[in-house]
Amino acid sequence: MQTLLWTLIIIATLGTASYFRMKLMNATIAVAIAMLLGSIFGPVGGIAWLVFLIIAIPLNVESLRKKYLTAPILDTYKKIMPEMSSTERDAIDAGTVWWDGEIFSGNPNWQALHSIPQARLSAEEREFLDGPVAQVCQMVNDWDITHKDTDLTPEVWQFLKDNKFFAMIIKKQYGGLEFSAYAQSRVLQKLSGVSAVLSTTVGVPNSLGPGELLQHYGTKEQQDHYLPRLATGEEIPCFALTGPEAGSDAGSLPDSGIVCKGEWEGKEVIGLRLTFDKRYITLAPVATVIGLAFKMYDPDGLVGDKEDIGITCALLPRDTKGMEIGNRHFPLNVPFQNGPIRGTDIFVPLDFIIGGVGMAGQGWRMLVECLSVGRCITLPSASAGGAKSIALATGAYARIRRQFKMPVGKMEGVEEMLASIGGNAYLMDAVTSLTTKAVDLGEKPSVVSAICKYHLTEKMRQLVNDAMDVHGGKGVMLGPNNYLGRGYQGAPIAITVEGANILTRNMMIYGQGAMRSHPFVLKELYAASNEDKEQGLNDFDDAVFGHIGFAISNTFRSIWFSLTGARLAGAPFDDETAVYYRSLQRFSSNLALLSDVSMAVLGGELKRRERISARLGDVLSYIYLASAVLKRYDDQGRLKEDLPLVHWAMQDCLFKLETALTELFENFPSKVMGVMLKAIIMPFGRSYQRPSDKIEHKIASILQSHNGSRTRLGEGQHFGEQDCLMGDLEQTLKDVLASEPVFDKVCKAAKQRYPFTGLDAIAQKGLELEVITEQEAELLKRTEAGRLRTINVDDFDPKELIANTQAAKPKRRSAKTTEAA
Ligand SMILES: Cc1cc2nc3c(=O)[nH]c(=O)nc-3n(C[C@H](O)[C@H](O)[C@H](O)COP(=O)(O)OP(=O)(O)OC[C@H]3O[C@@H](n4cnc5c(N)ncnc54)[C@H](O)[C@@H]3O)c2cc1C
Repeated sequence: MQTLLWTLIIIATLGTASYFRMKLMNATIAVAIAMLLGSIFGPVGGIAWLVFLIIAIPLNVESLRKKYLTAPILDTYKKIMPEMSSTERDAIDAGTVWWDGEIFSGNPNWQALHSIPQARLSAEEREFLDGPVAQVCQMVNDWDITHKDTDLTPEVWQFLKDNKFFAMIIKKQYGGLEFSAYAQSRVLQKLSGVSAVLSTTVGVPNSLGPGELLQHYGTKEQQDHYLPRLATGEEIPCFALTGPEAGSDAGSLPDSGIVCKGEWEGKEVIGLRLTFDKRYITLAPVATVIGLAFKMYDPDGLVGDKEDIGITCALLPRDTKGMEIGNRHFPLNVPFQNGPIRGTDIFVPLDFIIGGVGMAGQGWRMLVECLSVGRCITLPSASAGGAKSIALATGAYARIRRQFKMPVGKMEGVEEMLASIGGNAYLMDAVTSLTTKAVDLGEKPSVVSAICKYHLTEKMRQLVNDAMDVHGGKGVMLGPNNYLGRGYQGAPIAITVEGANILTRNMMIYGQGAMRSHPFVLKELYAASNEDKEQGLNDFDDAVFGHIGFAISNTFRSIWFSLTGARLAGAPFDDETAVYYRSLQRFSSNLALLSDVSMAVLGGELKRRERISARLGDVLSYIYLASAVLKRYDDQGRLKEDLPLVHWAMQDCLFKLETALTELFENFPSKVMGVMLKAIIMPFGRSYQRPSDKIEHKIASILQSHNGSRTRLGEGQHFGEQDCLMGDLEQTLKDVLASEPVFDKVCKAAKQRYPFTGLDAIAQKGLELEVITEQEAELLKRTEAGRLRTINVDDFDPKELIANTQAAKPKRRSAKTTEAA
């Protein structure tokens, strides 16, 4: 009994030292003290001390440790770790580690999260949003764009150029707006609330493309020539990476640029002979300057001694001789300008390379560096903006539309959908605010950008689906009065671009996260590949023993948190949100432990076990999304009325996170290890439920009435007063809510329960019974008109729906034509 007791005391001492992450020497001293007490008061004897010394001495004496432990571990490590390709290395090296590093630490510093300043607009940015952005929202008619014109009108194009919408990222010295990432995000949110074609047209030139690449890597001459012209819209850019054979695996592009001599403007110069076949290129049909990615080869050694130079980016003017450009693809009835670009043996001078010949072969690194920022902004913001507008529109519609003599939004089944729409919209806005603020603080959070891209576009797809269900036939019937259908049709576009989502979830989020955000993995990798053997051994020793201590600490922390339900973990606030901070701390330790075990069990194989990687990525992602929700709640003053939205978003994240964990244990490649991990991390099964019906009811109520939470949810979106579907819905919701007591008065006086239809007749009745005023009668009449506009759908003369038959019938690209191209 005494032996068991002292064994437990010694393990508890080791556990406590690990929990608090004491240094190795201090932890050794603590265990030695426990053993000493065990020798004085208990049965700890010679054998126990012998074991202790055999372990403690080599660990604590540096020279012994390096010779007998670190060196053999390093040798084995070098044998089992797979080689990293140069494109993988570029992807890992691009970007910075930010809050994702804290999540991987197993013990996130909440103070650090809450001390990130709240994202805010400058006066100039606010003016732009309230002025030109609101104006262009009022100018566009999404039905005309998507059905009649299949483009923005010439007036809208000109307005966008004149007001520098394409120059939000371009520095002021070149005539651009030089807006913060947060401001760009708010602009795109607002635009996407009215038209996906509009937000895509504005989003793309401000994301990855010539503007961004030139500012970072262009030569002075290139910057001076192009940036002022891009700022004024004189040049419209596009960026061409994807081709028929290189989609997700963009690095495998077959397009080539062979260094050779040729004639340019009457002189013989060294240049590139380019052959390429690109597709899906946004803005290509109207672009005047084309960013082109290709592989550069120098077979005759004209620019150096390397034949295969690697991926390179160049800028080609549209009128470059031999370039085929102008045709359009037709992306899912959301007809923003998008099309193919082709060229065979086109000769251009070397100074078309972005950054000049010195940047030849650096194209992939340039792209992934820019993408780690761009992916935080464009697609997440467009998704969040769409979500915010849809949340308000669906709430209003559900309150206005009645069936079974009550608003459909009062029905429990519909409440469930409304809650998901509202909760997700709250979360999505929180994520874009936090992430764009990080960009503004100088971060290039590549792992977080992949999380944002994947989760926000997926949430948008889910949300628009839910909204369609709530709208029933009103969502299905396309026409000028349908504000949902095009968003529903276009949702897969955001899923596909900038890293298709299956790939992003299964490969990128955790694949990069484990390398980039883990505190020791990359250090070990770099140490192992250090050509200076001695320095490599020293660095590896630091990293690998730090890593072992880290793994032991996370094991003890995980056990402690699961036994106590993390009730004793720290939280920065002692209120309803404390439980969430504690839970996230627990899951952060679990993620760190699971990462180490997965890497130890699977090694390089982890890269190919995509479904394991995806579930670990889900754990990482949900901790990030949940952190953003807690940050938003605090930034906005911890307003109690927003708590249902916070609870829903947090509980949904935690529930999905636990689902990912459960599936991970069940599918872990080593069954024994899966069972052991479950015993450590979730010994009592699941702790988190889906958000309750009560919370869902509260959110449904928030969306269906005018209140502070709902206003904050739709903050910044466009609700115009004239000819604006969203504005009309908002006004009609207001009118319906105001009309209900008036309607009740009439029913009471008439001693009859009328249906809430034909409100103009009810108004007449009320006046006759002298129970309502003229003003109240006017309100009822206005409400009836708005109600009918809301529930009615469009119908057409059959001729109107026949597509333009004058245009040439598009040819199907056959194998033969592909070959010929
Ligand atoms: C509307 C639109 C606009 C675009 N704009 C541009 C542009 O301006 N410039 C440009 O260069 N490109 C552009 N693209 C290209 C876009 O980036 C690619 O479509 C995207 O990279 C995916 O390539 P793919 O469509 O060929 O799909 P594929 O690569 O054929 O992928 C098919 C499926 O396989 C999955 N997959 C592939 N590899 C893996 C893996 N290792 N693990 C798990 N799943 C995997 C993908 O997730 C996807 O679901 C655009 C595309 C569209 C549709």
